[in-house]
Amino acid sequence: MAQNRARVQPVVAGGKGRSVSIERNPSILGMRTKSELVDYVDSLFAQEGSAQQLGVDAAKLRALIERVSRHYKQNPYHNFHHAADTVNTIGWMITRPVLRVKLPVYRRFLLMLTALIHDIEHPGHNNQWEVQTQSPLAKKYDNEAVLEKHSYKVTVEILADPAYDLFLPFGKKKAQAWLRIIEQLVLATDFALHQQFMDEFRAYLANHSHDFSDPDFLGWIERALLKAADIANTSKPFPEAMVWGRRVMMEFWSQGVLEKKHNFPVGPLNDPETVKLNAAQAGFIRFAAMELFELLSEVEPGLEEMVENLRTNLELYEEKARRGDGLFE
Ligand SMILES: [Zn+2]
Repeated sequence: MAQNRARVQPVVAGGKGRSVSIERNPSILGMRTKSELVDYVDSLFAQEGSAQQLGVDAAKLRALIERVSRHYKQNPYHNFHHAADTVNTIGWMITRPVLRVKLPVYRRFLLMLTALIHDIEHPGHNNQWEVQTQSPLAKKYDNEAVLEKHSYKVTVEILADPAYDLFLPFGKKKAQAWLRIIEQLVLATDFALHQQFMDEFRAYLANHSHDFSDPDFLGWIERALLKAADIANTSKPFPEAMVWGRRVMMEFWSQGVLEKKHNFPVGPLNDPETVKLNAAQAGFIRFAAMELFELLSEVEPGLEEMVENLRTNLELYEEKARRGDGLFE
């Protein structure tokens, strides 16, 4: 799909004068092994370029990616494919014409890193399940943003190991500030707060200019970018969006089966008997995804093609829902 393969001028990645670009829709789901995915994520960091510009130890970064890959579980959706996909998408987004110039290099690197770790050790069911079952993690993290706090905690522990401590050469003060940024980014991916985030983000943009030197503006844009990258599979070309959509519904439905078995309230998207893929995906695009991408594309017009894909996919899902198409039609 040529229109989805916009080329970008690199910052410095790939050596002097070499033009590299992050492909918008690589076939990540076609990558079968973890080592293939590790190679791929490593290449994304190289293509995006911020790690190299900052002087991050390339061997340590590679080791970290491999270590992180081992902490992702084999869930239908929240697995290392999703992590690699999120790194690809954030890398593509932050190398669009405005963002690649306006975002500070270290913030770009932190976005790439957070995309990599944001769902580490995700158990394949959501926070509500952790809280309902009063799991050890729910108790540990006071029933709030349980999985996001856990992913952050695991990341901090890995980065504390000298074999993976990418921040060591930058000094303690910077390392602590960078960890705080990562924490805020990971916590922003808690979907329970999505509507609240959207209300506040919309109001913020309506009342502030696009001033990338303002730390508040930078924080809002970065949280929105990571949230968008996290759900950007809905903005892929339709056949691929459907594959990701099936995967996420599989994970929800398997939680729904458990919820019924344990007589817990069944989550709104989790009942395989009543929730249909096409209607659920259309509803997700219409009510959760669309406005986030629209607002971001006002800041970075280079993201407009994601909005266009979302509009197309919404129409196609709604058409399929009207026809009553099944999961694999
Ligand atoms: Zn995610």
